Amino acid sequence: MHLNDLNKQGLWRARQHMIENQLRARQISDERVLAAMGKIPRELFVREALRDRAYEDSPLPIGDGQTISQPFMVALMTELLHLTGSEKVLEIGTGSGYQAAVLAELAGKVFTIERHHDLARRARKTLEGLGYTNVLTHIGDGTIGWTEFAPYDRIIVTAGAPSVPESLLKQLSAGGIMAAPVGDKVHQKLLVLTKSESGVVEKDSGGCVFVPLIGREGWSNG
Ligand code: SAM
Repeated sequence: MHLNDLNKQGLWRARQHMIENQLRARQISDERVLAAMGKIPRELFVREALRDRAYEDSPLPIGDGQTISQPFMVALMTELLHLTGSEKVLEIGTGSGYQAAVLAELAGKVFTIERHHDLARRARKTLEGLGYTNVLTHIGDGTIGWTEFAPYDRIIVTAGAPSVPESLLKQLSAGGIMAAPVGDKVHQKLLVLTKSESGVVEKDSGGCVFVPLIGREGWSNG
């Protein structure tokens, strides 16, 4: 067998192992989320030198002091959004583009914002290379959202905020769901906010650790 095929087989096995031992074993049960993550080649979203670690049970560095999130956290946040296939989703913190790819598999259209130019450009290239035509990337401060395409059915913030950015709540449609880590610069609570005509209901979905959300309605610096 060719070396490339052996590598591919190894990566496929590592991905299945991640699905069973990191996700299903920890009560991720949405089959659509599991199928999406079982299909997406996560190794293409990390630097070449780290490809053999792409399926580890942890975040990994992606440059600019940022990380691709732990697979379990990607699965949990995606599951909490209850996507059915047609939603317009806003993601804050494109990073590697991996979470955007998972969302693109499960929703109608994904709008994703990253403040680091290099990361945004790299993510866009990876997503285009994999044929995702329903993801729009933008470079800028995601804490103020993306008014041009608002409102959004779902919003996912993949960096830790000091509080829920008001602009994002405003850009969430009635009936919409937002998932956001909120806390200090190291530890946060994963909040799930459900908006209705009568107000916003907030639920704490457990502790998490994200890099800081930096911007006008986030932290003022790193
Ligand atoms: N979702 C990413 C993925 O799938 O690889 C991981 C996100 S990483 C944990 C957090 C990202 O949020 C970083 O790339 C960081 O630069 C970005 N970020 C922080 N503050 C931001 C802001 N105000 N607007 C946009 N992106 C921001």
